Amino acid sequence: MLRNVGFLMVFAALAPACAQVKASGPDAERIRAAISAMRIAPEAKAAIQARIDGAPKPFRLYVAQALADRAADPMLLFRVDKSKALPVGFAPADLRALDGTGLSVSRPGHRLRAAALAALEDMNAAALKEGLTLLVSSSYRSYDYQVEVWDRGVKADGAVETAASVAKPGHSQHQLGTAIDFGSITDAFADTKASRWLAANARRFGFTLSYPKGLAEITGYKWESWHYRYVGKAAAAMEAGYFGGVQEYLLLFLEALE
Ligand SMILES: [Zn+2]
Repeated sequence: MLRNVGFLMVFAALAPACAQVKASGPDAERIRAAISAMRIAPEAKAAIQARIDGAPKPFRLYVAQALADRAADPMLLFRVDKSKALPVGFAPADLRALDGTGLSVSRPGHRLRAAALAALEDMNAAALKEGLTLLVSSSYRSYDYQVEVWDRGVKADGAVETAASVAKPGHSQHQLGTAIDFGSITDAFADTKASRWLAANARRFGFTLSYPKGLAEITGYKWESWHYRYVGKAAAAMEAGYFGGVQEYLLLFLEALE
């Protein structure tokens, strides 16, 4: 059931911290009910439930930790997509500048929330050890800036085409201050070493790919090999091990547990 070693390593690293949270997470019945309540294809639900049934104990620990993370920071695991907007007027209170951190940036002025920046710095240090540069090309975007991005897209390509790759104002993960676009922000990024490294390692630092290949019907967006969101280590491990690497499923599940 557990298909990769990385997943087990993250579990081993998290287990002591999770033990402190105790088994205060939801029981098997509540988990089953939450999965049943998710508005996704029945086959997808069945696959998720089967993975949980195959390794229920780590799952409960991950859920307990993810819920503790969310209790400490309600926006960390807040779903925002085409059907769900951010709270009106939302702007993160703890944005930090990337300038002066030594991180590789496309331009001055990038900002991220404190926890996402700390995780990015850890991830960047690990990548550097392997001779890789993680170029940050987009980070926090305010509601007003997203209005500009959206309007520019509509002017150039029309609303329908723009909606396949650009979020409407109030619906962008970038407004959370925890999403990052790396590298060229084009499909060419997928063929880079940095992209392959992120695909294999980002979750160890709490980042996951928001818009995987071939899942536009689920995520609402075309494949974006460059767009990662910080969700925390427990949620990232849970996504990889139980939700097929689909962040939207993870977020829908946690929402169903509210
Ligand atoms: Zn993005």
